[in-house]
Amino acid sequence: MHHLLEPTTDSLSPWLAERGYPAYRAGQVRSWVFARRAGSFDDMTDLPRQVRGELAAEFSIFATRIARHSRADDGTQKLLLELADGGRIECVLLVDGPRRTICISSQVGCAMGCVFCASGLDGVERNLTAGEIVEQMLRLQQLLPPDERLSHIVVMGMGEPLANLDAVLAALDVARSDDGLGISARRITISTVGLPAAIRKLAQVGTPYNLAVSLHAPGDELRNELVPVNKNTGLAAILDAADDFFQANGRRLTFEYVLLGDVNDSPRHAQQLVRLLRGRMALVNVIPYNPVAGLSYRTPSKLAVHAFRNVLVDGGLHVKFRQRKGSEIDAACGQLRRLPIVAPSPLAPG
Ligand code: SAH
Repeated sequence: MHHLLEPTTDSLSPWLAERGYPAYRAGQVRSWVFARRAGSFDDMTDLPRQVRGELAAEFSIFATRIARHSRADDGTQKLLLELADGGRIECVLLVDGPRRTICISSQVGCAMGCVFCASGLDGVERNLTAGEIVEQMLRLQQLLPPDERLSHIVVMGMGEPLANLDAVLAALDVARSDDGLGISARRITISTVGLPAAIRKLAQVGTPYNLAVSLHAPGDELRNELVPVNKNTGLAAILDAADDFFQANGRRLTFEYVLLGDVNDSPRHAQQLVRLLRGRMALVNVIPYNPVAGLSYRTPSKLAVHAFRNVLVDGGLHVKFRQRKGSEIDAACGQLRRLPIVAPSPLAPG
């Protein structure tokens, strides 16, 4: 079976040509899948029945299975997808006013080893293919009512996107294209642990994606503990590369900072962060730690969050304190896939 959504190996056009079918059928199929959200070739009613049958015999639209579908009271929905080889990934749909944001994964597991994150607890299994990344977008789009469209993408799910940059970029090309999802790069954010060489490569690509760098510590000593891969890079090289990214495409940088109670949340840490980031066109996104089963970190107290915020604001940084969304369905960061497999929930369409 060919995976229809695999953008790097477009097998549909040659397949049509071999059989003498008109080339425009490829566009029809594409429009059915991306614009009309078809789930099967049978839905594609303006294709001759015979062509539909032949396509169904040789192509799969989806290569994943929905193993679980959960929905939180705030509208957040999360899918646990099982890949053809049994690997499991998660992706999330967030509803925020008019925004319909999806958070997608780039790898099965993660090799970065951030000590507070569920995704990396078992290391990385493999990179996702571009098609598997596109598939998350479509699976989530199918959860929307027909009159609603996906508006934003954040590559902040499981995995380190810059460690799988080629596939991520190929998938995002599909997301941006008019015959794909038509979501502009300005509405797409790539979140990275901070890999300087890959950040520079992304800068050279020249597409105005938003870059978010996960900092979590204002200095190397603490960051080496929380984000072990920092020992190979160091903060200075990461900030240098991020500044180059900003120079290259003018997009304001975002720095993410997960607040861990009594670890990195003191006013002293906040002051250090001000000194580190001052003078940059940057937004600091402060995220209270979302508890992960088996880890002993704590979400900071409201008081500590407030004090941390005041220091950043007084220091002249632009800050956003992220609302926790979907926490009752373990929407954060690789937590769902670690639950023991249960029967697909009744919400699962597939
Ligand atoms: N590897 C990339 C993208 C995936 S992680 C990166 O590091 O940015 C996406 C964001 O979720 C990161 O900022 C990460 O630090 C954060 N995160 C991971 N585990 C978390 C947790 N338990 N609570 C809150 N945020 C978490």
